[in-house]
Amino acid sequence: MAEYKGVIVYGELVNGKLSSITSELLGGGRPLADQLNEDLACILASDAVGNASKEAIAFGADRVYVVEHPLLKEYQGDAHIQIAEKLVREITPRIVLMGQTSIGRDLAPRLAFRLGTGLSTDCIDLSMDPETNLLQQTKPVYGGNAQAIFTSDILPQIVTIRAKAMSPMERDESRKGEVTSPSVELDPLAIRTNIVEKIKEEVTGIKLEDAPVIVSGGRGVGGPEPFKAALKELADTLHGAVGASRPPADHGWVPEAMHIGLTGKIVAPDIYIAVAISGASQHIAGCSGSKTMVAINKDPEANIFREAQFGVVGRYEEVVPALTEKLKDLLAE
Ligand SMILES: Cc1cc2nc3c(=O)[nH]c(=O)nc-3n(C[C@H](O)[C@H](O)[C@H](O)COP(=O)(O)OP(=O)(O)OC[C@H]3O[C@@H](n4cnc5c(N)ncnc54)[C@H](O)[C@@H]3O)c2cc1C
Repeated sequence: MAEYKGVIVYGELVNGKLSSITSELLGGGRPLADQLNEDLACILASDAVGNASKEAIAFGADRVYVVEHPLLKEYQGDAHIQIAEKLVREITPRIVLMGQTSIGRDLAPRLAFRLGTGLSTDCIDLSMDPETNLLQQTKPVYGGNAQAIFTSDILPQIVTIRAKAMSPMERDESRKGEVTSPSVELDPLAIRTNIVEKIKEEVTGIKLEDAPVIVSGGRGVGGPEPFKAALKELADTLHGAVGASRPPADHGWVPEAMHIGLTGKIVAPDIYIAVAISGASQHIAGCSGSKTMVAINKDPEANIFREAQFGVVGRYEEVVPALTEKLKDLLAE
């Protein structure tokens, strides 16, 4: 029987660089590997991995498996599953960590199925049970209203982790690690999809997922204008980004990519300012990881006040400009 050892991160690259989720996964995997007294490894598969293997070591990996192939230029699940399956079968890690990203959501269930093991998706916390050496996987359930801890005794344990749930280690260029290039024969005939065109989402300013401050508007703002004016001004003042609940996206007031919640983006900024948002569980599911939540709503009974640490009962048309002016004064001091 295979001896399962170590923690492995299935890394992602963006424009040839290690993506932020990969450094977060390495940051989350490092203490698990240390507790097990085993290695933390990282798989990087792309057409050109370049310096990303060194970055992975600087962010905590002991070993990096580099697979380079022209067929890996764009993400293709049918190509990556061949690499993930072959390497995980050969390396036999105890734990496989992936991002709760479009890549992780696609790859992790396929890998778990092929290996005949379990999968917990969208986890926000991980810990080792010292008695069993099994991973305890915490994830939000019931639309974010509760958290449940899952585990399974079938190895490897595969988990996808929500962005911003783990902190990367401080980058340390002096860390030493091993880079190996295992040979993986990619079968082009097994790649059944072909990318015809890639349309980049237009993002002006800070990306919602990376913004330390988000000013999010709900149906109560009444139309598209406030998103471009009052809410944007508040967000700009705090060097943040503007988001929305689902109704503004459904009404076409804002692009679909700005919608936060169960069916939209999941964010975890330092400050989340919810403007004229009632606080439905499906919305909270996307922002409950925010460190501080501030609610502005004219209805004192709105559920958002149960979620927020700070709240202002009032019409946003008055509260938001007054808050922006006050912040501008304070920041100018
Ligand atoms: C399967 C499913 C998935 C869903 N996924 C999502 C999701 O991903 N994200 C999401 O957001 N929703 C989602 N929803 C919808 C969700 O249930 C709610 O309907 C939605 O979040 C409500 O949006 P809202 O708070 O902006 O609007 P409302 O619930 O209509 O609330 C508007 C708020 O604005 C306040 N208000 C009105 N005027 C003013 C004013 N002048 N000043 C201050 N406050 C004012 C009101 O008091 C009210 O609290 C989903 C629903 C389903 C069924």
